[in-house]
Amino acid sequence: MTRAIVAFGANLGDREATIAQAVRDLAETDGVELVAVSPVYETPAIKDAGVDHDAPGYLNGVVSVETELAPHELLDRLLAIEQAHGRVRTEHWGDRTLDLDLIDVGGLVLADERLTLPHPRAWQRAFVLAPWLDIEPEAELPGFGPIRALRERADDEVHRR
Ligand code: ATP
Ligand code: CA
Ligand code: CA
Repeated sequence: MTRAIVAFGANLGDREATIAQAVRDLAETDGVELVAVSPVYETPAIKDAGVDHDAPGYLNGVVSVETELAPHELLDRLLAIEQAHGRVRTEHWGDRTLDLDLIDVGGLVLADERLTLPHPRAWQRAFVLAPWLDIEPEAELPGFGPIRALRERADDEVHRR
């Protein structure tokens, strides 16, 4: 079994309901056991041009799981859950009903055309680091160090709900 961290985000529709159902979908996946669910944070949307206070805000958080799935199998499952919740990809970093990102899978470092681990932007995202710290205060992001130190340096805006 491998410990993995999955980040979730939603800024369209009934965000709470979508996230609750997505967490259930993940927990019901064969070969995946839910370990912990973080508190939820409110965060402003970030677009290519920076923070966009006119776009609907996000609810963000993370879950930890134990899994027998290979990293790409877990990614496929996350993408299928996004699809099931009506995710449509249009503009880069566009508004979305649900985003599920694989942040860390057992400390693995890899990069191919479908999957980069750890998630290449997690180290600078308070909306990932803050909820992850809540459930795993001693965690480290492979190649980047303790998430507590990363969180202190990340200055994007997050508010615990
Ligand atoms: P960001 O990666 O900056 O959070 P995003 O979540 O909006 O942006 P998406 O459009 O959801 O990006 O994902 C595009 C592709 O990224 C996915 O189809 C997937 O193949 C790829 N990808 C690579 N590494 C990862 C990862 N660690 N977690 C999730 N998707 C990844
Ligand atoms: Ca993302
Ligand atoms: Ca994504």
